[in-house]
Amino acid sequence: MSEDRYIYDLSEGDASMRSLLGGKGANIAEMAKAGLPVPDLFTVTTTACVEAMNNNGEWPASLEGEVAEATKRLEERTGRKLGASEKPLLLSVRSGAVHSMPGMMDTVLNLGISDDSVKALAEESGNERFAWDSYRRFIQMYGEVVEGVPAHLYEDALSALKHERGVEEDTDLTAEDLKGLVATYKEISNEELGGEWTSDPHEQLNRAINAVFKSWGNPRAEVYRRAHNIPASLGTAVNIQQMVFGNMGDTSATGVCFTRNPSTGENAVYGEFLVNAQGEDVVAGIRTPRPLDEMKDVLPEAYQQLVDTMHAMELHYKDMQDMEFTVENGKLYMLQTRNGKRTAAAALKIASDQVKEGVITQEEALMRIEPGQLDQLLHPAIPPDHGKEVIAQGLPASPGAAVGGVCFDADTAAQLGGKGEAVVLVRYETTPDDIHGVIVAQGILTAHGGMTSHAAVVARGMGKPCVAGAQGIKIDTENKTLTIGERVIKEGEVITLDGSEGKVYGEALDLIPPQINEDFLNVVQWADGVRRLGVRANADNFEDASKARELGAEGIGLCRTEHMFMAQDRLPAVRKMILAETPEQRAAALEEILPMQQSDFEGVFTAMKGLPVTVRLLDPPLHEFLPNLTEQSLLVQRLELEGGNAEELGEARETLAQVKRLHELNPMLGTRGCRLAMLYPEIPDMQARAIIRAALAVKEREGETVGVEIMIPLVALEQEIETQRGIVVAAVEDELAKAGAQLDYTVGTMIELPRAALIADRIAQHADFFSFGTNDLTQTAIGISRDDAENGFLTQYVMDRVLERNPFETIDVEGVGQLVEIGVEKGRGAKPKLKVGVCGEHGGDPDSVAFFNKVGLDYVSCSPFRVPIARFAAAKAVLQ
Ligand code: PEP
Ligand code: MG
Repeated sequence: MSEDRYIYDLSEGDASMRSLLGGKGANIAEMAKAGLPVPDLFTVTTTACVEAMNNNGEWPASLEGEVAEATKRLEERTGRKLGASEKPLLLSVRSGAVHSMPGMMDTVLNLGISDDSVKALAEESGNERFAWDSYRRFIQMYGEVVEGVPAHLYEDALSALKHERGVEEDTDLTAEDLKGLVATYKEISNEELGGEWTSDPHEQLNRAINAVFKSWGNPRAEVYRRAHNIPASLGTAVNIQQMVFGNMGDTSATGVCFTRNPSTGENAVYGEFLVNAQGEDVVAGIRTPRPLDEMKDVLPEAYQQLVDTMHAMELHYKDMQDMEFTVENGKLYMLQTRNGKRTAAAALKIASDQVKEGVITQEEALMRIEPGQLDQLLHPAIPPDHGKEVIAQGLPASPGAAVGGVCFDADTAAQLGGKGEAVVLVRYETTPDDIHGVIVAQGILTAHGGMTSHAAVVARGMGKPCVAGAQGIKIDTENKTLTIGERVIKEGEVITLDGSEGKVYGEALDLIPPQINEDFLNVVQWADGVRRLGVRANADNFEDASKARELGAEGIGLCRTEHMFMAQDRLPAVRKMILAETPEQRAAALEEILPMQQSDFEGVFTAMKGLPVTVRLLDPPLHEFLPNLTEQSLLVQRLELEGGNAEELGEARETLAQVKRLHELNPMLGTRGCRLAMLYPEIPDMQARAIIRAALAVKEREGETVGVEIMIPLVALEQEIETQRGIVVAAVEDELAKAGAQLDYTVGTMIELPRAALIADRIAQHADFFSFGTNDLTQTAIGISRDDAENGFLTQYVMDRVLERNPFETIDVEGVGQLVEIGVEKGRGAKPKLKVGVCGEHGGDPDSVAFFNKVGLDYVSCSPFRVPIARFAAAKAVLQ
């Protein structure tokens, strides 16, 4: 065999071949290596899928031949033959991507069953009913997945048959019934395909492999990849594996298990199983499974072997495993093992525990946890003792609490959620097709399915609260109602879910912010020992600054001063200042504002004493402080019509004239940042004085104060920073002299315009530090209005992958990132010790943090709640 082959047999793979064999194929091979009982298989590589994808679905020339040969080898190893009337080989055909994408792609089971082999299967199993049930399941699945026969045609036929026989459950149908059903299914299939239905298992195998290739591109997989940042170029592997049967009778079973509790992280065996069932019954949430514990009593030997295997595999991979198994007539088979998805709380507990157990190092533990997962722990919860009535109880499938309007289909959820409305998606059971609704929903409630159903797995991965399998709820999707007992809840009515307890409340509850526990603190402290980047917060009042400090911020990287000007009691003075016609009028208005500014700064400085605080001077888009032009025009019009108070009308007209004079078509590119301060130097003068007075007052009162850093915004020109620095230093020195005090302070600038980055060497001559404002830098470098971005074409761009990521969330490394690099290089070229940070929203985004670490920034600054995430991401950036 040459090395450019597309197929590997079971014995040829191992865990290191994940990118070629997919996670599932690689891990099954690894289990076989470890001597565990796994059904034999061969794997078609991801490369084959990618090549087919890139060639309009056309397979690589050698693939079909390779499939035939690999099938022959598998037949030899198992002593069975595909489609044979004696000892038939039955296969499952499953996707297996590099990154696990639970349920997002297609699967075909029982392939190889035919008119010939079904009889042999009946004889071998001694169970005719089972054999015919497998056959009808195969036609249904193959017909739907591979040939595109509408699923309801089969379901309708099944329902009709049950009705005819007067039975409720599928299991009440006899072998004879099922034989008839197979005939009906074949007719349906053949009719739908215009006589083209193939019953040759070898041909079916090729088509099934092709269907799995194609399912890589189906919409739900696409949505899932986008949500999890999985590149579309990876493709999926396909595993062709000998079937084992969990539905052979009462000594057969199938199940899913985790080596530790994936919700809480508790070190105890956890899982679910179903006697006499196939794997799909468990994952698809069609039947509600039993807790794994109960398997002890039903199948004691297989249970013990399973538990031993779980321990062995966890130690082998040094991580919590999520496994699938089947028991066929009492014999255990392992079908899959992978590092289990888990909630953030569980991730932290497991990592902490495994460090304590000596299984992994602190650094390995850090690598295990996704920075974004920490977010989940910062989820709101329902306060204890709220005294509200629980209206329904289900399984606690994914923790956290959610409040939102009830919504019965994913499309509506996606539409409302996209508009920013809080929705709770309520479904009988969710299917992977609901993914777009799940993404935007606050939480998910299902009437059916267990802890390992799709709804649960997907919700947990996304940190969405989920209550699954809620008992006694009736969903009427037609009339859009949810009935619980007497209560009828209509679409849009608000409910609350407690995903940690599995409880549903028929009203909106107040939620409390989450508690950060010991595991959380442990892990973040380990991160502190590893990271190089400093982590500061963006905060502009006492409360936020205190929260930031509590969460580990090492200072304030951005204290915006606009908000201080916007409070209702201040706006009149601020407007007076902006609209002032003479320096005297302006000075009088500023005189009013100064003490208010000082008290704001005192609040922030008190919370952060002992740490550095960067205060940014006023950066207003001017219109935010002024009356709205249209409203003011209407006011004038109304007063004119009413013909009343002349004085009032006069004032309104004067204001309108001023508003018109200052009106800008592009205020975000207008009189913002230092441009306003260049026109009115009294403003930075006042602010600098307020800052120094506050710092001195806090020192006097608290015994220590902050490291004062004064920052000039929106600089593009060397002359701007030079002038502004002059104004600030003069005011500071004057204040210090008057107070007879000494205080260290620095004056620096934001780098948030491309020109500033390009002339950073010149700007650095006048700056003690730089802070990259990547919000404005993104806006101005790409030319996308940051205020309109998400409402406009940008969302479509990200959907269509014109852009891989929203550049306002994750830094556009290629473009904006280059400007950051240039800025750092030029700035430090001119001033080697120049301190450089970032304070745009990207400062709290893990991928962006990795970039900032790489280009050598000194610190990142982000919103208080993202501080732990940034601390953690900064450590991962070092370890990667
Ligand atoms: C920025 O532009 O990145 C920044 C931090 O400033 P603001 O968001 O206040 O414009
Ligand atoms: Mg800015």
